[in-house]
Amino acid sequence: MRFGGCCWFVLMILVVVGGCRVPSASPPDPAPVLSQSVQRFPSSCLSPCLVPIQQPDHALCVVITQGYGIGTHTPPEVFGAIDLAVGSPMDGTSDPSATWNVAVRAAHDGMVIRVAYQPSLAGNHVRVANERFLTAYSHLATVTVQEGQWVRVGDVIGTVGSTGASTGPHLDYQVWVWSDQMHDWVNQDPLIFHPTQTFCPSRSAGSEPAS
Ligand SMILES: [Zn+2]
Repeated sequence: MRFGGCCWFVLMILVVVGGCRVPSASPPDPAPVLSQSVQRFPSSCLSPCLVPIQQPDHALCVVITQGYGIGTHTPPEVFGAIDLAVGSPMDGTSDPSATWNVAVRAAHDGMVIRVAYQPSLAGNHVRVANERFLTAYSHLATVTVQEGQWVRVGDVIGTVGSTGASTGPHLDYQVWVWSDQMHDWVNQDPLIFHPTQTFCPSRSAGSEPAS
């Protein structure tokens, strides 16, 4: 009798815990526990605070080649992203030769929760998450992290490529925010977290065909 009561108690805990934090829509990965990231990175950047193909010394001219909610980034609640490339500081247009194999860096502290390959969609892609933010990096040429690995903002997680459904070298960058109200990840425009002033002016922002 005591054993049976114990099992019910454990089952109830599993139901309560399991039922309250598992997102139902894409991306399907549950958020890791914040306390772990806080302990590991006491002076952390938990929200997206680095444009992921920018260098730590902000040396690159980074341009947006396809904007949020445009073209292949629709519907935004599913495919919301911005495409990033290295641009020419002279005219602000993307420079494919300078974009290939540029380091892709974690936009914030968190845990690598997904490393996978989707041949018809994201190609080689990585997801990094903490309790509040999940960022996704697609079409990578190479991936240099593993699932379960903790990264700090600026750590290299791969290199820019054109794998999956892509017409040229660029980084498809998504930001998702955990909603306690919806119990799910909600896609957000990355420019909410990365002001446009941090990008190199581009004559063609939002209109280039790379997706
Ligand atoms: Zn894209």
